[in-house]
Amino acid sequence: MEQTIASCPLYKKCGGCQLQSLPYDEQLRRKQGREIALLGKFGHVEPIIGMENPAHYRNKVCAAFGLDAKKHIVSGVYQPGSHRIVPVDDCLIEDEIADRIIVDIRNMLRDFKIQVFDERSGRGFLRHVLVRRGFRSGEVMVVLVAASPIFPTQKPFVKKLLELHPEITTVVLNINDRFTPVVLGEREKILYGPGVIEDTLCAHRFRISPRSFYQVNPVQTEVLYGKAVEYAALTGTETVLDAYCGVGTIGITASGGAKQVIGVELNRDAVKDAIANAKLNGLKNCWFTAGDAGEYMQGMAREGYKPDVVFLDPPRTGSSEAFLRALIKTAPSRAVYVSCDPETLARDLEILTAGGYKVQRIQPVDMFPFTEHVETVVLMSRVKD
Ligand code: SAH
Repeated sequence: MEQTIASCPLYKKCGGCQLQSLPYDEQLRRKQGREIALLGKFGHVEPIIGMENPAHYRNKVCAAFGLDAKKHIVSGVYQPGSHRIVPVDDCLIEDEIADRIIVDIRNMLRDFKIQVFDERSGRGFLRHVLVRRGFRSGEVMVVLVAASPIFPTQKPFVKKLLELHPEITTVVLNINDRFTPVVLGEREKILYGPGVIEDTLCAHRFRISPRSFYQVNPVQTEVLYGKAVEYAALTGTETVLDAYCGVGTIGITASGGAKQVIGVELNRDAVKDAIANAKLNGLKNCWFTAGDAGEYMQGMAREGYKPDVVFLDPPRTGSSEAFLRALIKTAPSRAVYVSCDPETLARDLEILTAGGYKVQRIQPVDMFPFTEHVETVVLMSRVKD
């Protein structure tokens, strides 16, 4: 196993890889210690599953564009707590092809008279470039995030970009004219290709559009979903709820073992992708719906509807209390919680264990080497009615 990656010259300024100075084994030990401290009271914490080769695992890269003090165009990440851009040309955890595309775009800007956006004056065009690469498919999506839809050199720019990077399969212009930290705006224009990429994960095909959530570490995602599906122990007769389902990855992966899968997700683009993904995989037992997971679950509880197994994979803020209370009311025999924050997970497990669930398995997975983040899968079963 690779012990460390060469230390990064941007370590102090960027702040992205908080654990970078530690050998990989030591990083894993630290994460395991944190998991035990937060979750040990609920049961035995299995040893964290690390990566064989933890470098360049991120298949989604987002670079901010702007001007430095000398008015040179820079691209990279915001220094923590500021809007100063730390220039990044190659990053030790990011996909190398994605990084090269971003550098080439930066070098092309002057020739194509494209100005970068200046946050102070509100003038200029290009704000961010987001690149996503399908791990198995190799398909590459480039999203240019701009402050306006007017892009006079669009055609020659895209032509040149494709000459430099024939691996790019789609280019999208996303328009974001707001002053918020959210990178992507609501409007989009496809400049080249289908506007989505496809990838294969856990033996299923997935279509991913620019604004849909898709895990950034595909190698470990297969490990994570593998565990989640194993814990669900489906026998072919179950009705499964995939809550916070994104593009349907967990539900679709589990669907072969279930009678039916229902997915609920707030982001409408992701729901459209999930519906398309069920079709893409020829699945007739998967349904997806847009909405708040908590409200949906409350609706199920009200109508007396009882799923047999619930997967829940909420964002870092954890699940809502409304969701958890409704889950307890609908009383599925198993719940599989996939969490990207052990603190909110611990908070939510308190509610579920007080409501009649017992934690059976706790499995940490290292989805984000070199950073402090850790992912966990927890199996719970209903012990009282
Ligand atoms: N299970 C998916 C997505 C997990 S990320 C996967 O593994 O790829 C969490 C998802 O929850 C995101 O897609 C986000 O859009 C969605 N989400 C956030 N708040 C939500 C809410 N209140 N109700 C339903 N979905 C929500």
